[in-house]
Amino acid sequence: MSILSNCEIKCSCGETFEAELWKAVNVFDDPDLKEVILSGRFNTVECPKCHKIFYHEHFFIYQDLQNEMIAYIYPQADKVMAADIRKKMLSDFKTLSQGIEELEKIDFEPILYFGIEDLINTIKNEDYIKDEIDILNFIAKRIELDLIKIKPAKARNLCILHTIPKTKKSTGDIKKDIVSGLEQLLEYNPNLVEYENLLARIKQNISCLDEILLHKKEK
Ligand SMILES: [Zn+2]
Repeated sequence: MSILSNCEIKCSCGETFEAELWKAVNVFDDPDLKEVILSGRFNTVECPKCHKIFYHEHFFIYQDLQNEMIAYIYPQADKVMAADIRKKMLSDFKTLSQGIEELEKIDFEPILYFGIEDLINTIKNEDYIKDEIDILNFIAKRIELDLIKIKPAKARNLCILHTIPKTKKSTGDIKKDIVSGLEQLLEYNPNLVEYENLLARIKQNISCLDEILLHKKEK
């Protein structure tokens, strides 16, 4: 669930006031909050004295378990202590997940961001990639393609799409089948930039698929 907390805020005009800010966001429970983050209105406050509206930087946790994403967002200024904060984050996360069934099952690490911008960029990028994956899902039903699903958190780490096509006419070599699958897909729709980049990356070094395939989702 998403959690608000009461914070004391100091405006540049000198006024001090209290406001409620999000310290935990769960986009499954509150999908609107994802839109609020993308729009730049997240954790903004208005000074009661000078009426300036501004973003108040404040630690929060962002949770999107469907996409295997848990992010800890610290203020930008804390970046100088990144190593210590990473350690603290991993131990806090361990404590947090104990006794919470859905969190205990988690087999991926939380992501650490300094400043909300990096979170916004990740969300935007993944929404963009999701459009191409949706198109692949649609096309795969029409042409002879099987889909390989990669664990989303691993796909994010490897900078790769979490759904990859392979041809149904198997040669017995899964790597060759993926190359054929991507070629078939791009022949059908040449406008899929992310898949085109993936094909180029694989053609340059086909063994990059070894690591990717380690993280295949079990069906
Ligand atoms: Zn003010």
